[in-house]
Amino acid sequence: MARLVMKFGGTSVANIERIRNVARHVKREVEAGYQVAVVVSAMSGKTNELVGWCKDASALYDPREYDAVVASGEQVTSGLLAIVLQEMGLSARSWQGWQLPISTDDAHGSARILDIDSEKLGAAIDGGQVAVIAGFQGIHLPTGRLTTLGRGGSDTSAVAVAAALKAERCDIYTDVDGVYTTDPRVVPKARRLDRIAFEEMLEMASLGAKVLQVRSVELAMVHNVRTFVRSSLVDPDAPETANVEKAGTLICDEEEIVANQMESQVVTGIAFSKDEAQVSIRRVADKPGIAAAVFGPLADAHINVDMIVQNVSADGFTDITFTVPTADFERAKAVIEKARDTIAHQVVEGATDVTKVSVIGIGMRSHAGVAAQAFQALAGKGINIRAITTSEIKISFLIDAAYTELAVRTLHSLYGLDS
Ligand code: ASP
Ligand code: MG
Repeated sequence: MARLVMKFGGTSVANIERIRNVARHVKREVEAGYQVAVVVSAMSGKTNELVGWCKDASALYDPREYDAVVASGEQVTSGLLAIVLQEMGLSARSWQGWQLPISTDDAHGSARILDIDSEKLGAAIDGGQVAVIAGFQGIHLPTGRLTTLGRGGSDTSAVAVAAALKAERCDIYTDVDGVYTTDPRVVPKARRLDRIAFEEMLEMASLGAKVLQVRSVELAMVHNVRTFVRSSLVDPDAPETANVEKAGTLICDEEEIVANQMESQVVTGIAFSKDEAQVSIRRVADKPGIAAAVFGPLADAHINVDMIVQNVSADGFTDITFTVPTADFERAKAVIEKARDTIAHQVVEGATDVTKVSVIGIGMRSHAGVAAQAFQALAGKGINIRAITTSEIKISFLIDAAYTELAVRTLHSLYGLDS
């Protein structure tokens, strides 16, 4: 029998009424013939509250005890959903991370999953039980301590469970009905995508389309877990809810997308991130070792560098521009100043009122001129480009933040994404 993993986020299990609604979604899939494992988040707001309590208790809290506290939100919802499912006449049982077990490393608060033992779980669902698994948590087996996977981690739990069970799909139920070509609050004409490739989704997710935890998409890509993003806030028994082709967005392998398209779409979506700051280092010597002198200390300071642009040298000097998360801007400049002896630069400049806008699509691999079109369109609107980077499936522009909405709308129409 085919296996299905269903994951429900915090808003979907926010109260008992919503949990009943979730149970009806589960019942529908059981009746359709699936063996079902469910992964739940804590009720919305619960994890924030628990984190707040830890901080109130002590600014220097023990991370192992933090995990003991914050993992409790999922323990509650897994038990409640099992009760509601039982009341509906289904066989159901809750499972905490340590009971399966979901084994992780010992990075408390941001642990990585090492392995999921699918033996007990597989036997349970083979026997007709709906297994309701507490997301976000695991166990570090050598110490026997409970761990959590980092905020938003129940998406990762769900994908990992789906990989371990070799499930046909991992359905992520959330408060949006899928992945859009861009943020609908910025572009009302944004469309929901039927399908998006893992690689594209990674770009969309890490660039601000905050539907799924990025780690969960990486994991889905590595294990080829078809992941379906859909809304839980619909009538579980409506005919259109059961129509998987239309009810959300499937994140899948590129081949499956190509096989389902008559004509390939060049651009799939436009992402943007306002959480960018630009740092420019003027007049550094154009010689071997300078880039290492700049980016080595930044890496040592755990500052994530994103776009990097270096000019062609004139008279033995060059400029280096890069971007960092806004929160790291001052620290990044300080790190560069501290390394002045080795970098020997003239000045460090920068700006925090910048946005990175990215055009994303696997179709770019086989189409020329995508970037040129964007340059023209942005110029037509008087938008200045501060820096550009490209990869096989993405072009990113750094622009003044004031032009974000205009740039996103312009590019969205340019590539035929408007509905
Ligand atoms: N409850 C956890 C959080 O709020 C995990 C999750 O919901 O994915 O971060
Ligand atoms: Mg979430």
